[in-house]
Amino acid sequence: MRAVEKIAASLRDKGLKLTPQRRLIIEILSKDRSHPTVEDVYKQVVEVMPEVSRTTVYNTIREMSSLGEIVEVQDLSDGGIRYDTCAESHHHFFCISCRTLRDVELKMPHAAEFSDDLEGCEIVREQMTIYGICPSCRDAAKKAGKN
Ligand SMILES: [Zn+2]
Ligand SMILES: [Zn+2]
Repeated sequence: MRAVEKIAASLRDKGLKLTPQRRLIIEILSKDRSHPTVEDVYKQVVEVMPEVSRTTVYNTIREMSSLGEIVEVQDLSDGGIRYDTCAESHHHFFCISCRTLRDVELKMPHAAEFSDDLEGCEIVREQMTIYGICPSCRDAAKKAGKN
């Protein structure tokens, strides 16, 4: 995600004002790399501005998404949508136990280079999600097993 000032400029281009509420939401999003849901962002917003509604948070997130500042990531464990504040193509590891979704760097060729099925397609984004159990959940399970 770009700096708040640059986002403010693109909001102005679209005829949208950077209200204090919007600024706070954008600031929270720009720092959060945990792929938050609307609800996660809302909880952080009301700690600072209790009067902000869920609808405002939801609408601002939708605006950021339409500006291409953040992208939707499907959370397949509950069908919800989480938001990624890094709009550049990258891959994820998803822990099926604690539902942490983290960015991973995969050293792999572009999909079009190894699949004939994509011939003629224009690729706009490549994203792979690897599912598993993270080290701390594995440790916790091992400890629970010993008791
Ligand atoms: Zn975990
Ligand atoms: Zn990500």
